[in-house]
Amino acid sequence: MLCLTGSAGRADHRLSDESTMHKGSCLSGSIKFTVSGDLGPGEICHCQQCRQWTGHQLASTEVSRSALHIEDTSQLKWYHSSPKVRRGFCGQCGSPLFFDPIDQEKHNWIAISLGTFTTPTAVKIEQHIFTAEKGDYYEITDGAPQNEY
Ligand SMILES: [Zn+2]
Ligand SMILES: [Zn+2]
Repeated sequence: MLCLTGSAGRADHRLSDESTMHKGSCLSGSIKFTVSGDLGPGEICHCQQCRQWTGHQLASTEVSRSALHIEDTSQLKWYHSSPKVRRGFCGQCGSPLFFDPIDQEKHNWIAISLGTFTTPTAVKIEQHIFTAEKGDYYEITDGAPQNEY
């Protein structure tokens, strides 16, 4: 059920990955999803594409594909923003949900917009990326490391 990577030595942990279940949805509720296990570190992407896609900037967390379960995909649309990436959004309300690398063998992860979680994430923003493309109307003031690209 869960990805077994790194399972060695975890047997002693009372709070196994399966005990943590995160939930989220798009604005209209058409797309609901769950993620089992801890979420990856949070990062904010300031690139032009993410800013246009979200209307501001993309705060996301990476999880292993096997940890993500999407309940209903009938409204889930995909936009290929580059040959390497497709972005999943709700066809009814437009919420940006998933940042999905096309090469799934090389990238065993999918990024999920942090704003779409409806349960506590326990995630902290650990870095900013593509700050060279950030908008001129805001400052980055949280103290997390900033990477130009
Ligand atoms: Zn929706
Ligand atoms: Zn970006």
